[in-house]
Amino acid sequence: MYNNALAFAQRNHVNNYDLIKRIPGLKTEFEWLKEVPSQALQQSIIDLGKAFKNKWNGHNGGPVFHKKGRRDSYRIPTGCEIDYARYKVKLAKLGWVKFYKDKPIEQSTIHSYTISKSSTGRYYISLLYEAPNRTPLNNGRAVGIDVGIKEFAVCSDGTVFENQKHYQRQLRKLRVLQRTMARRYDKSKDILDANGRKIGTTGEQSKNWYKAKAAVARCHEKIRNQRNDHLNKVSSQIASKYSVVCIEDLNVKGMVKNRNLAKSISDCGWTAFKTKLRYKCDSVIEVDRFFASSQTCSVCGYKNVRIKNLSVRSWTCPGCGTNHDRDRNAATNILREGLSRYPISASLEALR
Ligand SMILES: [Zn+2]
Repeated sequence: MYNNALAFAQRNHVNNYDLIKRIPGLKTEFEWLKEVPSQALQQSIIDLGKAFKNKWNGHNGGPVFHKKGRRDSYRIPTGCEIDYARYKVKLAKLGWVKFYKDKPIEQSTIHSYTISKSSTGRYYISLLYEAPNRTPLNNGRAVGIDVGIKEFAVCSDGTVFENQKHYQRQLRKLRVLQRTMARRYDKSKDILDANGRKIGTTGEQSKNWYKAKAAVARCHEKIRNQRNDHLNKVSSQIASKYSVVCIEDLNVKGMVKNRNLAKSISDCGWTAFKTKLRYKCDSVIEVDRFFASSQTCSVCGYKNVRIKNLSVRSWTCPGCGTNHDRDRNAATNILREGLSRYPISASLEALR
């Protein structure tokens, strides 16, 4: 429906309403559209409208055609009944479907739900609902966070969150699975162009190749889930103590270009971490990444150029003699720098 509407909208001057009006006609043309909940069809057109709107507002390049098998999902813009006693949820057109037991959500109205299928063939349901008592903590306390590769995050209060390196830990298993997959790549022949460059492949792979491919996808999914779980735990712990978080504005994209660092940086999930902090905390202040947080003494302000070397883990300030842990000193500087950009009354409150 999304691709069909997009193709139509590219050829004709239409609005959302015109596209939705086409649905009944398409249903007679494509019988199988009748198997799908009508709200999901309408929703995909509303989503397309949003994508066009984003383009006009200059947020992105506009809608693109969706590819089957990649992030397949549909959304129903209404609530759904959930039976926590039997772990069943009632879905449009499908009826009662069993789900893996989960903690009940707080009493609330569900606005919409989305069914998605992961690359491993697992189905997920996400609910959009307004949760009561979810306003972020507002105690005026602030913390600075220095993120890194050696430790995932070091807080100005001395808390250290270790880097769990989910990807690195699964790497050996992943390599074995990927080799198996490569070995089973046989049935298909590469299609070459005139210059001998590969432009595609013919036909299907063997059953065992698809099995190996699924195993690789499952391994990636496990890594993703573990990482996400860890990020949720760390960010929740911080949000339960502090309402103001100061954090370095890291140029993750730029850093990932450095190939040696790329894998370990992608593994950390800093961007996802910040996103979680933003919705869990009252305010997140980002500090300029060129601000020399690790080189400056957080007590007297002395600038120690030697500290640029990442291997220096601790140092004594030549100016005031304070013994610094590299990361905690950086976190304290980030906190101070962040609060200097914060309304003065709030800063004073936070520093008490
Ligand atoms: Zn000093």
